[in-house]
Amino acid sequence: MSVREVACVGVPRTLLVAEIVPRASPGAAPAVAIAAGVHGDEPAAPWALLAAVRDGLLDLRFAYRIWPCTNPSGYAAGTRRNAEDADINRSFGRGGETPEARAIITSNRDRKFALTIDMHEDYEADGFYCYEPAVDETSFGTAIVRAVEEEGFAVQELHDAFELGYPPAAQELRTLHRGLVRPNVKAELAMSRKLPYSMYLLRRAAKRSLTLESPRRLAWDERVAIHRIALVTALQRLRASL
Ligand SMILES: [Zn+2]
Repeated sequence: MSVREVACVGVPRTLLVAEIVPRASPGAAPAVAIAAGVHGDEPAAPWALLAAVRDGLLDLRFAYRIWPCTNPSGYAAGTRRNAEDADINRSFGRGGETPEARAIITSNRDRKFALTIDMHEDYEADGFYCYEPAVDETSFGTAIVRAVEEEGFAVQELHDAFELGYPPAAQELRTLHRGLVRPNVKAELAMSRKLPYSMYLLRRAAKRSLTLESPRRLAWDERVAIHRIALVTALQRLRASL
């Protein structure tokens, strides 16, 4: 593993990025991008990611690009937004509209990923859920939801009134399943000028995307555990799909 700091141009902060390259097949292994902490008030996500790496939960037949905390100033302040009061996760359009998004986009140039995972928490949720843009007929999300539930954690019931950050009349933009939101990629890209991280990667560099949401109301250890289960199951599904 190598770890380096990437400058956020124009502001006094850097982002940490870690690269894990399999010894057996450097350059040939499919790559997975994993990010956490784009919202600074969702702290269990970065810690779950660090703990998963520390505990060897990542399948080392893949290569990884890991951003453990993409909003360090928000994390330090405990705020959703960064120090300039911007939601970084709505700033990945037009080459990046925040210093953090520009740093990530520049750093990702020429990289391709088999899967991107973005780790979040949700204040309104009572159970786990995830977003999986519909890129083909298969769904990793269904297996992830099942795995979280099998370990005894609640799964979020989703319905039109649940706040998912979509405008009203968003039916054509996504379908809702138990614990799983399936955004329509084309419709979302056409609509969204304030591009989220996952959609920017899906458009440019990733074949498949998952956004994981642990319920912020649960105890710390439970939220960390939920992310660990989801992460491991996502990698198992990726392995099985190749
Ligand atoms: Zn979030």
